[in-house]
Amino acid sequence: MSQSAHALWATALGALQLEVTRHNFETWLKHTVGLSFEDGRLTVGVPSSFVAENLEKRMAPLIAKTVKGIANGEIEIVYQVHQSQHADQDPVAAPAPISADGPRPRRTSRSPATGSQLSPRYTFETFVVGKSNRFAHAAAMAVADSPGTRFNPLVIHAGVGLGKTHLLHAIGHAAQAKGLHFLYASAEQFTNDFITALRENTLEVFRTKYRSIDLLLLDDIQFIAGKEHSRESFFHTFNDLHTASKQIVITTDTRPKLLPLLEERFTSRLEGGLRADIQPPDLETRVAILQKKAEAAQIKLSPEVIEFLAQRIVRNVRDLEGALNRILAMGGLANRPIDLDLAQQAVADLPTSPAQNRRSSPSQLLDAVCYYFDLPMDDLTGKSRKKGIALARQIAAYLLREDTPHSLADIGAFLGGRGHTTALRAHDKIAYHLALDSNLRRQVDEIRNLVDSDQHRTA
Ligand code: ADP
Ligand code: MG
Repeated sequence: MSQSAHALWATALGALQLEVTRHNFETWLKHTVGLSFEDGRLTVGVPSSFVAENLEKRMAPLIAKTVKGIANGEIEIVYQVHQSQHADQDPVAAPAPISADGPRPRRTSRSPATGSQLSPRYTFETFVVGKSNRFAHAAAMAVADSPGTRFNPLVIHAGVGLGKTHLLHAIGHAAQAKGLHFLYASAEQFTNDFITALRENTLEVFRTKYRSIDLLLLDDIQFIAGKEHSRESFFHTFNDLHTASKQIVITTDTRPKLLPLLEERFTSRLEGGLRADIQPPDLETRVAILQKKAEAAQIKLSPEVIEFLAQRIVRNVRDLEGALNRILAMGGLANRPIDLDLAQQAVADLPTSPAQNRRSSPSQLLDAVCYYFDLPMDDLTGKSRKKGIALARQIAAYLLREDTPHSLADIGAFLGGRGHTTALRAHDKIAYHLALDSNLRRQVDEIRNLVDSDQHRTA
């Protein structure tokens, strides 16, 4: 299989996933793979001729447009039935060559996964730990180490693409290694399973299945929140497992309305549990993730390119992977070296984050901090070590480092002629506490909002 075909199609899939419904994606696109790319023709492996026909019939224009956009030119796409392929591979996210796992059966059943359906690449070893996820990672390790004894349930809470599913699978792998009986299911699978059981009158089987396990790993619980029947069923399952001291791990995203609905029902149970948040990765972690993934995909990236990408992509890890895939595809296609130019092109159409808009203006940022804490600028940049002032200064250092491209030396200078190490220490202190302190997170968010609204005013 050619690397560039693989990478090109993986990138196209990433883009297509945003364009089509989840159902269409799962049905028609998910189990496809780029096989070869030669003379302007991309061959895509599909699981059956039925899928090939449907892709031609339903999605040809969209697919053509997407691939053209990535490859920067007209590309002919042909489909080829390719049985033993597994779609859960992409060059950046899946460092191992495909043959390393051996051919895996295509997934046919929608029932919850036991070991075999865990993604082999989502393990503790491949998870990069940084300030933003250290706490969640430690909690996941603790749970994997001694399930059902501490932190039960463990609720992992984070925005999209920040590693919830990755950690959940990692716990599954660890449980599997111990020979424990576990179930991994997305809330959607759980719901489907439940509905099927209702329809086919097999609720007993459903109950036994979900209640005879040591660990229940339930992904994206927010999908259950709106569905009353499944919610009830989930709470019963949850209570039974919890009473029997079986470990439950739940992930949920940050949609604010849903969480209280769930937490209301959980309250008494949540007391023995733990909620671990994952924040968007900070700069240092973004650099570490890029390095690790580039190394795994055997792409050589200069420190300059890594720094550029880490500054440019701030939202989540999925975006970082997407950018690397794109770079790999573009570099391979055009046979170009991966330089800053290519990297810039690869991320050109990613949405700019609020942080990017703020990039050029440390003074706006400092003004916002002063305004927020009701401090004169002289205090912020002055010598006082009073608690309130010191905190404001540390937050300023944090935001300057995260949201502007300035060096630590510059940041120290902005903060009243302080040194590089002082700036770094201040930044790190906030970064560390952000993972633990929701009040601090709120403050930082509010200051960022101030900066944003300031920009709208002056824009
Ligand atoms: P979520 O479930 O929170 O939406 P995922 O777990 O699917 O996010 O993560 C998105 C992608 O980013 C996955 O490919 C995952 O392996 C990768 N990823 C997330 N966090 C990390 C991390 N800390 N180290 C390495 N890869 C990560
Ligand atoms: Mg997920």
